[in-house]
This record gives sequence, structure tokens and C-alpha cells, in this order.
Amino acid sequence: MGLMDGKRCLIMGVANQRSIAWGIAQALHREGAELAFSYVPDERMQRNLEKLLGELDGGERMLKLPCDVQKSEDIEALFGTLGEEWGTLDVFVHSIAFARQEDLGGNFSDIPWEGYALAMQVSAYSLVETGRHAKPLMDAAGGGSIMTLSYLAAERVVERYNVMAAAKAALECNMRYLAADFGPSNIRVNAISAGPIRTLAASAVKGISAFREIVEEKAPLRRNVTIGEVGNVGLFLASDLSRCITGETIHADNGYNILAM
Ligand code: NAD
Repeated sequence: MGLMDGKRCLIMGVANQRSIAWGIAQALHREGAELAFSYVPDERMQRNLEKLLGELDGGERMLKLPCDVQKSEDIEALFGTLGEEWGTLDVFVHSIAFARQEDLGGNFSDIPWEGYALAMQVSAYSLVETGRHAKPLMDAAGGGSIMTLSYLAAERVVERYNVMAAAKAALECNMRYLAADFGPSNIRVNAISAGPIRTLAASAVKGISAFREIVEEKAPLRRNVTIGEVGNVGLFLASDLSRCITGETIHADNGYNILAM
């Protein structure tokens, strides 16, 4: 018997085998969940996802649906198809972020509105819009769990994060307000604030290797986190083991966030 037997989970944000969403997907799959995935409408992204799913038992039969969160019609179509195919949804993993390279670095005060708005739309507002569409399917399931991925730069100044730091702060705020909105429907909403991991998205922030060296040297547990470890935190948030937790940001960072000097 798996922790997630009979649970239907939508995962947004698997780009490749390094993606945090892939770590969460593997953990959910291991515990018996039924999975569906979205990918950015792009042939390479679709091929990557299909190849990865080939590694999972039954992966070739899992739903793979295109969705660019900058397009409301894509979001509607994604949840429309899920409604037709499944009718209910238990877990929704939002693991999406994007910002222009030029807005990650330099002076924070130089970020132009276009770059700020883009990062906010993809990385923060998308949780609100996708969450709105997930809710009726979770209502039909009698409740559910939504999770998103954040980073410490939402709370503290981290060099070069700039526009993504603002987006993560908004994302965590969105998460709390959605938790308050959806709580009476037995839908939980939480965030995982993960330590730095070398992924496609992280490579846009120059200095990720240096951040990882600092974590290894200073974090209480003296090591970096892996997508497998973050995946297990995702599994906890998805499962009934965390049924009394909502509106929370859980730090999965080997304790780095508690440090000052
Ligand atoms: P990743 O590049 O593997 O994942 C980012 C995902 O966002 C990709 O799948 C990409 O296709 C998707 N995406 C970007 N623009 C999109 C759009 N318009 N529509 C739909 N999807 C879109 O990198 P990751 O590090 O696994 O990132 C996942 C989440 O984890 C992000 O929110 C990221 O900020 C967060 N996070 C990452 C780290 C880290 O160090 N890697 C640490 C803390 C939090």
C-alpha cells in the first residue's frame, strides 16, 4: 500500500531530469499516485518529458498536456482536459518560474516594468490563475493539496536574485491568501522553500555554484539538498500526513535559513 494510492496529481514544471518537479513526481509515483504532467508548448520540452516518463512504470500512458501559463486559454484547456479525463484532482504541484536574464543581476532599482511584470506573471500570478482552475476539480474530490516552490530570496536579500526575489515574495503571499480562500473547501496550499539546486531555471542566476559552496560550508547539516529530498517534502505535503498544515512555507534547505552571522 502506498501513501498516495488512488490520488490524482497534476505536476507543472518538469523540464528535464534535474527539475525539482521531477523529484516530486518520482516520490509521488513511488507511493502509488496517478500522475499527469504539463509542459511548455515546445517540441523539445515535449520530447524531454516523454523520454523522462519512459523511466516511470506506465509513464507512456500518463497525460502530457501543453500549457504556457502566460496564456489563459492554455490554462483553461489544461484543466478542461483534466476535468474530462479525471473529473477530480487531489494534488497540484506548481513548480514554475521565469525571468529575463537581464533582470537577474545588476541593480534592483534598474528593473524595468516589462521584466518585473513578466517575472510576476509567470512565477507568482500563475499560482493564482492555475489554483482557481484546480479548485473545482479538488472540490469534486472533497479537498486537495496545492504546493509551490519558493526560495529564501523571498525573505532575505540574496545577491543577484533581484526580480525573482520580488516574484517569490509575491508567490508566498499568494500561497497564504489562497490557503485562506480554499481552506473551508478542505484544500491546503503550501510552499517549499528549497535550497539552491543546479537546474535549468537556477542557471539563469549567475553564481549558483558559489551559493551551493556556501551552503555546504555553513548550513547546519553541511550539505546541499537534492531533488529527491525536496521530492519527499513534496510527498509529505501532498499526503494526508500533512493534513493539518496549510498556508505554510517549509524550508527544505538543510537549515540554511536559520543562520545570521
Ligand atoms: P526548472 O527549469 O527545471 O523548472 C522551471 C519550470 O518552469 C520549467 O519546467 C519551465 O518549463 C517552467 N516554465 C517557465 N516558464 C513557463 C511558462 N510560461 N509556462 C509554463 N511553465 C513555465 O528549474 P527548477 O529549479 O526545478 O524550478 C522549479 C521551481 O523551483 C521554480 O519555481 C524555482 O524558482 C524554484 N526553486 C528553485 C531552486 C533552485 O535552486 N533550483 C531553489 C528554490 C526554488
